Amino acid sequence: MNEIGVVIRGESCSFDASMSVPLLNLAEHNRPYQDRMREAFDRFLASGQYIGGDQVTLFEKEVASYLGVSECVAVSSGTDALLLALMALDVGPGDEVICPSFTFFATAGVVHRLGAKPVFAEILEGSFNMDPEDIEHRITPRTKGIIPVHLFGQMANIGRIQAIADKHGLFVVEDAAQAIGARHNGKHAGSFGAFGAFSFYPTKNLSGLGDSGLVSTNDPKLAAKARILRVHGMDPVYYHSHVGGNFRFDPIQGALLRIKLPDLDASIGLRQERAACYVSRLGSHPAVALSCEDAAGKRLVLPETSPGNAHTFNQFTIRVRGEGARDRLVAQLKAAGIGHGIYYPLGLHQQECFCCHTGGSVSLPITEAACREVLSIPIVPEIKLEQIDEVCDRIIGFLDGGSAA
Ligand SMILES: *Cc1c(COP(=O)(O)O)cnc(C)c1O
Repeated sequence: MNEIGVVIRGESCSFDASMSVPLLNLAEHNRPYQDRMREAFDRFLASGQYIGGDQVTLFEKEVASYLGVSECVAVSSGTDALLLALMALDVGPGDEVICPSFTFFATAGVVHRLGAKPVFAEILEGSFNMDPEDIEHRITPRTKGIIPVHLFGQMANIGRIQAIADKHGLFVVEDAAQAIGARHNGKHAGSFGAFGAFSFYPTKNLSGLGDSGLVSTNDPKLAAKARILRVHGMDPVYYHSHVGGNFRFDPIQGALLRIKLPDLDASIGLRQERAACYVSRLGSHPAVALSCEDAAGKRLVLPETSPGNAHTFNQFTIRVRGEGARDRLVAQLKAAGIGHGIYYPLGLHQQECFCCHTGGSVSLPITEAACREVLSIPIVPEIKLEQIDEVCDRIIGFLDGGSAA
């Protein structure tokens, strides 16, 4: 009955509309835009321009101005944004690229696809983002660059990472797929590195109606090369200076995303408001720690915001500590109809496809502990503050030892 289907990461994940607090509700999210989206689609259909054109270039200009960068190149997905960035930076066989293991697969998958080797660095316990000290330990003569991921919507320590990269002559590509709108000391994610890579996959903070992505840069030469690589390295038509791919961005996505972009900061504000509710309700419980630093003896740790960061809460990710504790809480949330996600259950260094590649001997204990403890709970702007309260009631019931009947 009344099932709303959402495809998440290739799994067809459907939830009952009667679920008390869904993790996300994309139809509800797009409802305020539906009239303008229908008009945009009608104009698009009538235009006859189904590849390229104004909706692509206007979207690129508007995102560039939002991010405060000189240029953006819109592409087919966040994965392709990362791939294109690495291609423009000439990553290839023999190269090593340092990235986290605690991230979505695409971050390292693109490195491998270019014949280079992803070298996995450890994360910091508090922010889930890459540990700059550990990056420095993993630099070899073959290291070509670093891909910091701004995980869950807040930036990695970009100042330290960029300084390490500069010292060793490495590039930085920011994986900002989960972090559009995130800032460090007021400056946007994606405006620091040689490239920033963004995704407009439907679960991201700026969400399209399908797949799309974008790279940002302040380097006109890299932007020009990315534009050529986006269409098979072709410039002019049928003359190929490089081997690129088809990474084109659909103009219909541009038309639809342009309608939502002006509301992005307001919608991030609603996520921050929901995060503050969780912190005020859960943070006062004696079994809850506000940071990993004072987590001794606590059973639940709330997400930390690193100094100088504006967190955009693409996910609100708590840690549930203790043997089997996360699974028990998950079972209770499920029974109560509360959506949740585990991002990520396994580090990339533990994935079957990378085990051999890395010699199978890599050990990243902080990453592995995060994989056992993390739990993401509902944070999207569409859920009401009363629903956040309901999630808190269930979690507090769990902490107080009952089944929160
Ligand atoms: C979503 C995501 C990507 C890939 O984006 P797609 O648009 O799904 O290809 C890359 N890196 C991270 C960290 C992501 O969360």
